[in-house]
Amino acid sequence: MKRLVIAIDGPSGAGKGTVSRTVSQRLGYLHVDTGAMYRAVAWKAAYEGVPLDDDAQLSALARRASYEQADGTITIDGHDVTRAIRTPDMDKAAASVARLPAVREVLVGKQRALGAKGGVVMEGRDIGTVVFPNADVKLYIDASAEVRAQRRAADASHSGSQSGITSVQSDMAARDQADSTRAVAPLTKADDAVYIDTTDMPIEAVVHRVMMLIAEAVEP
Ligand code: C5P
Repeated sequence: MKRLVIAIDGPSGAGKGTVSRTVSQRLGYLHVDTGAMYRAVAWKAAYEGVPLDDDAQLSALARRASYEQADGTITIDGHDVTRAIRTPDMDKAAASVARLPAVREVLVGKQRALGAKGGVVMEGRDIGTVVFPNADVKLYIDASAEVRAQRRAADASHSGSQSGITSVQSDMAARDQADSTRAVAPLTKADDAVYIDTTDMPIEAVVHRVMMLIAEAVEP
């Protein structure tokens, strides 16, 4: 059977991580969390003392970095950063790094290479618009700001989630605003993406809907 490219975009806390991971496991596909790539570059920049607005240095760092995602673990240049990249500071640092055109060019190249043979579920902000505009299945997963903040606050893998729902929600709103209004590859729904509002949907229902859409793409 043809191994598809499945692009899943949307703002933080909408549920795209859980959905992407579950769907990739069911299909036996590779799961690529592109947000974790931007986070890992931001972490390495902080580790090496590179300013977060230095596109030339950061893109060189991103280019030579060896980056791996497997079994829920994320490493960059041999450092296990799985937990370290999920902090409020890294939320902000990743969004800063993601504004830089040369950094994006490098990471988009790596993302295209990972998905080149198909059999991939890739999640992010620009997968259906920029990375794989010809993806076989394109989804835009969204939820209300309140529910997204609640989900983030309940996310044990993200430190700082205990800082209170109001502060989680305002940090998230600021980051979504930055992601949606930046000059390069802003967060936006691709015209041909299917929009799924997960506000009132249990995760299993979202996964079911996504699996149905994938089945339709295989046998239209
Ligand atoms: O998805 P996550 O919250 O981990 O992403 C961290 C940051 O990386 C986002 O706020 C966004 O600025 C950036 N990002 C991006 N393009 C992607 C994935 C993430 O710009 N494809």
